[in-house]
Amino acid sequence: MAGRRISDAVFVCWVEEWTTAEELINNLKVYTWKTECEHAALELRGANRRAIVRGGTHGIRFKLRVSGLIHPLGYQEQYASINIEGQPIRIDKLIMHTHPQPTGPSEGDFEMLDILDQDVSIIYEINGPIEGTEFKRRSES
Ligand SMILES: [Zn+2]
Repeated sequence: MAGRRISDAVFVCWVEEWTTAEELINNLKVYTWKTECEHAALELRGANRRAIVRGGTHGIRFKLRVSGLIHPLGYQEQYASINIEGQPIRIDKLIMHTHPQPTGPSEGDFEMLDILDQDVSIIYEINGPIEGTEFKRRSES
């Protein structure tokens, strides 16, 4: 069995615009089952594009970049990105991702919602609930 690894996100393929959510879930599960690695479907900035990326057995690490914007509280805005064909592209949304085993959402999963300023996402786990496991951003206030 592969070791416990959180690996940098690697681009796998684009998602055709006519691909349904059901097909997307099935594709991610097949990739996950074959490789034993986590896979995610992402919505990327610009042109309404979706992509599938692969991580490690226990997580997907996204590159954090600092935008030119300075937040009113003084810190620089950070965003997650993925390199595709040598170009860093900003991630707007974690549509869904898979786990090769049923473990529930990880710390990294919650962090990703914070970074993306996203309220909710869903995990499909091999041998987990068929309807997926929804997880929500922890309230900060
Ligand atoms: Zn996860």
